[in-house]
Amino acid sequence: MAELQVGEYRFEHAAIQLRWAAATHEGARSMNEDSVFASFPVFLVADGMGGQASGDVASALAVESFRTLKGRALATVEGVEQSVERAFRAVRHEAAWHGAAGGTTLAGAVAVDVGGTAHWYVLNVGDSRTYLLDDGELQQVSVDHSVVQELVDAGAVDREAARTHPQRHVITRAIGAGEEHAPDSWLLPAEPGQRLLVCSDGLSSELDDREIAGLLRATPSPSDAAASLVARALHAGGRDNVTVVVVDVDEVEGAWRLEDTRRGGLDDDTRPTRGRR
Ligand code: MG
Repeated sequence: MAELQVGEYRFEHAAIQLRWAAATHEGARSMNEDSVFASFPVFLVADGMGGQASGDVASALAVESFRTLKGRALATVEGVEQSVERAFRAVRHEAAWHGAAGGTTLAGAVAVDVGGTAHWYVLNVGDSRTYLLDDGELQQVSVDHSVVQELVDAGAVDREAARTHPQRHVITRAIGAGEEHAPDSWLLPAEPGQRLLVCSDGLSSELDDREIAGLLRATPSPSDAAASLVARALHAGGRDNVTVVVVDVDEVEGAWRLEDTRRGGLDDDTRPTRGRR
């Protein structure tokens, strides 16, 4: 297997300093229907479904709907909500005009300004996931919209059995399929030392939470962590497309003033800091 090329990026904003990396691989599938968007302040993964070149279009439309947030400023809650609406609209229009009714999950986090401090706006539709590693503890922030999650909630299946359950890929919500529900969302204060992991189910169905946590704890650099997670999922079978984004919070400033933004920021908001074979 060729070694993955994973670049590492950083951005210094007056309110928050981040480093991140993203990696994706088609796995054993013939095409990759996952899409990823990782550029300050947006970190998203979408897992398209529908085949026949429609799942990949749906997932790309979903993440690209957030491109207007990309830049040197934190996003706002309203900006994220408008992007979510754009994502639903874009996938709906694609289906109406081209008849290829692909659907997609959408999961991840956007750094937003809430009262002058940086927060994570975590959002989810479907079974891609956002995890938070904080003080060495890994927790899944998002809750899957899936048949097996409903079985877990009902106490009919435990979390470990859910990973291998025959219906593990059946999701109950998507963008572009079924009824339109607003995504689940969570607002978390950003804290130094946090590590976010956003992934498609191609990772979480091959590796359990303990393996994911161990790897995240043992791998300081986001690019090494992203490459290792994908490599480990492929080694475990790689039966699905696998996509990961790893984001480290290096610094967070309390209520920052607008004029402070001039001292933060790089010429380019996504400058690679190191390469990898
Ligand atoms: Mg998948």
